[in-house]
Amino acid sequence: MTDPLLETTKFDPAGESTDTSEKVKPRQRYKLKDDTGFDEVPKKYRRFYRRWNGKGDSLAPNEVICPVCKVVIRSARDLRPGDRVYCMPCFSRLTVIRGESGLLEARVEY
Ligand SMILES: [Zn+2]
Repeated sequence: MTDPLLETTKFDPAGESTDTSEKVKPRQRYKLKDDTGFDEVPKKYRRFYRRWNGKGDSLAPNEVICPVCKVVIRSARDLRPGDRVYCMPCFSRLTVIRGESGLLEARVEY
């Protein structure tokens, strides 16, 4: 396969996996569509971000909302509390936490 996007396959907003010392089930991998139409980041990173569609939209296990710019950050694997993700559109470094509702949320790191 000669996918021009191949060189970016190592990129993931969630960075390196921290699973090595954890006895947890392997993470589920997600195949991200090449382009979500999100045009606020360079084309090759678009599949890692998408706009939140508001009411009726829902987050997949590999997605979390940036609390700063409300953009949905998408990882190639399911996200878990403690994961660090990077929001490229607003340059925020975030930590994934378990919110009061039981859903995953992102908290800004200062
Ligand atoms: Zn953001």
